[in-house]
Amino acid sequence: MYMEISELVRDNIRRLKPYSSARNEFKGEASVFLDANENPMNTPYNRYPDPLQQSLKAKIAALKHVRPAQIMLGVGSDEPIDLAIRIFCEPTHDNIVAIEPTYGMYRVCADINNVEYRQVLLNQDYTFNAEHLLAATDAHTKLIFLCSPNNPTGNLLRRNEITKILTVFKGIVVIDEAYIDFSSEKSWLTELDNFPNIIVLQTFSKAWGMASVRCGMAFASEEIISYFNKVKYPYNLNLLTQNFVNEQLNYENRTREWVAMLVSQRSELAKQLVTLPMVEKIYPSDANFLLVKVPDANVLYNQLVERGIVVRNRNNISLCLGCLRITVGTKAENEVLLNALREIGGVETRDHLMDEGNFTAADNSAETQKGNNLATDAFDEKQNGVIACEDQSLEKIVKTFADERKAIVRRTTKETDIFISLDLDGTGKTDISTGIGFFDHLLDQIGRHSGMDLTVNAKGDLYIDEHHTIEDTAIALGEALLKALGSKRGIERYGFCLPMDDCLCSVAIDFGGRAWLVFDASFNREKIGDMPTEMIMHFFKSLSDAAKMNLNIKAEGENEHHKAEGIFKALARSIKMAVKRDPNNNELPSTKGLL
Ligand SMILES: *Cc1c(COP(=O)(O)O)cnc(C)c1O
Repeated sequence: MYMEISELVRDNIRRLKPYSSARNEFKGEASVFLDANENPMNTPYNRYPDPLQQSLKAKIAALKHVRPAQIMLGVGSDEPIDLAIRIFCEPTHDNIVAIEPTYGMYRVCADINNVEYRQVLLNQDYTFNAEHLLAATDAHTKLIFLCSPNNPTGNLLRRNEITKILTVFKGIVVIDEAYIDFSSEKSWLTELDNFPNIIVLQTFSKAWGMASVRCGMAFASEEIISYFNKVKYPYNLNLLTQNFVNEQLNYENRTREWVAMLVSQRSELAKQLVTLPMVEKIYPSDANFLLVKVPDANVLYNQLVERGIVVRNRNNISLCLGCLRITVGTKAENEVLLNALREIGGVETRDHLMDEGNFTAADNSAETQKGNNLATDAFDEKQNGVIACEDQSLEKIVKTFADERKAIVRRTTKETDIFISLDLDGTGKTDISTGIGFFDHLLDQIGRHSGMDLTVNAKGDLYIDEHHTIEDTAIALGEALLKALGSKRGIERYGFCLPMDDCLCSVAIDFGGRAWLVFDASFNREKIGDMPTEMIMHFFKSLSDAAKMNLNIKAEGENEHHKAEGIFKALARSIKMAVKRDPNNNELPSTKGLL
């Protein structure tokens, strides 16, 4: 079921002859070292350190119940993140799939390595479905990154969903457990011998209190670790680090005490935060931080900075609109924070929520989660359909089938959250809801008269106006068409339709790959139903841009409603003609052999 690790590794890495250091080549006992051009004076750091950190690994192996050969130590866990990408992903060819929002370094490392990074939005409650992630993978997906407990959302990812991914996915699954020490859930380390395709990351930067030391751990099969060892800088961990971490490992009990204190402070902090009027929501956390939703995260962030308190502003992160990420500090530090918040937000408390909802604090016990949701629901109602997500770039879950011409596109921006699913070879079944009645009616025409199955579920900032919802729906629909058409092999490419009811409308289409719009129709009324007529041309402009199609539209007639409807109907019929596929023809519909 899994691919052999050696098949997943990049060719050049498999063939790589690693640098062989002086300390590598000599094995045995010696008292005179004249092999490495070192200074003989004992400083005592004049000698190169052990490149494989064997003494330190022996100790970590005992602590974590793994074999030393299943461990790679890096300069922070950021090093194995980067190395995993370099070992498995061919730049510009392979890709990585990750949940979103999550730890930012995965994307940065992918970008540096010029490897495509595909992000799949978590559900609104920050849970995830294995199917959504798997749908974003293809034959070139080498790595899936999962962070559990996740940063910045704080929650654990569901174990059975991770198991599904480990079982179904043929590539490597990286599970980042930077925060596992603060969680009641057990580590995936116990599964190392059961899944050959797993890499577990842990770090000394959080619970162990050694962020400035820069030491992280990757655990995996001996084969995967051998590739890490081949690719890493020979002396990546200096001797000071090796010695210091080795020494600190003697104080495991102190780490346990710290963790117990921080977990209890986490509950205490949540309990206090929820009484503050500005706190709208505290997400359940299995980590040493709380994600807290407030009405204006930017303003509050600055107000705290003015008081010398710095938290992490996650307002611009997908699904984290209005959120601050607050690290749990000492009791005294948390008090300073709470006092500052009380000062900023006045003295009014929300005790009533605690009474009604049994809400005590955000932690991972089922009972308090229930309470938390009660507190949450009260505030969700206030949100008025605004999607808690801010990212101007496209956030998409895209699923394209090789033979089936289907596509799913999810497009989320600050203003809108659009879900589109279409099947070019459907039967004209539609399920449309955008909140704009007449727009629904027009989109319905597209599905019904083109013969494709079309689902459009758009939630937008209609309390401002219809603009974003219509525009973003057009973009998402265009993207879905483009995805569903795939290689475009065997399609007709051109479509033309001229229906004549009481209006004369013509729509010509070319799916040749170039976006161009000619729109020759005017409307005399400002609105038809609840839809501004100026948005009709805008819709087609966005659609043709996103679908990369040439659209030529003309319409004449008196009745505005029929004219608009006629254009959409004609568009649908043209699409039907242009996407028609000859199953026996595998040619690109172009004389030049490319589109
Ligand atoms: C903090 C953190 C790390 C640790 O990074 P280091 O390089 O080991 O300091 C790794 N992953 C996540 C998700 C983190 O939040």
